[in-house]
Amino acid sequence: MKANDPLETYRKKRDFKKTSEPSGRRGLRPSKRSASATARSLKKRPVFVIQKHDATRLHYDFRIEAGGVLKSWAIPKGPSTNPKDKRLAMPTEDHPMEYGKFEGVIPEGEYGAGPVIVWDSGTYRNLNEKSGKEVPIEHALRQGRVKIWLEGKKLKGGYALTRIGTTPPRWLLVKMNDSEADTGREIATAEPRSVLSRMTIEDIAQRPRRVAGGKKAA
Ligand code: MN
Repeated sequence: MKANDPLETYRKKRDFKKTSEPSGRRGLRPSKRSASATARSLKKRPVFVIQKHDATRLHYDFRIEAGGVLKSWAIPKGPSTNPKDKRLAMPTEDHPMEYGKFEGVIPEGEYGAGPVIVWDSGTYRNLNEKSGKEVPIEHALRQGRVKIWLEGKKLKGGYALTRIGTTPPRWLLVKMNDSEADTGREIATAEPRSVLSRMTIEDIAQRPRRVAGGKKAA
């Protein structure tokens, strides 16, 4: 394992023989990997994803692409479109980029056991700037002050992620007051379905289980 592997914590928590979550080892040759990384940086905006995850407690995992991984927070109440709502967001370990498409049931006994759906996904723009210059997202993350404009299927507009404490690390996710703010409804309950499969988290929990390797569990 190479030094300072950002996915080391992610892999240590999981047994990929048991869970169908991605290991984050894509198995690409270095030439292909750098070609796809180049294509990504030239053409594509960075991505975000929000997964609804019914583990020990129901929560929403908010993830944004930065430095080749998905920086992640667990948000118990989920995101809000109302700028008056301050949603607690607890940082969790970096996840591999492939995790953004993961839906399924993490088996009992494994880390994060329970069903997962992709509740929203899309791209984002970095709104952080200082003296008219963009502040790199990695820098804004280290500073604990991140402002991004989401272009999701459900969530749109500016959101501020702000660190409010370090022991334990706690952040707040707050909708910025812009044209996309909507105080009239609770989007997490109004739009419960996956943006990938249209399934609810209850649907996916009841689907026949599959184990890693694609075979049906007995
Ligand atoms: Mn989670």
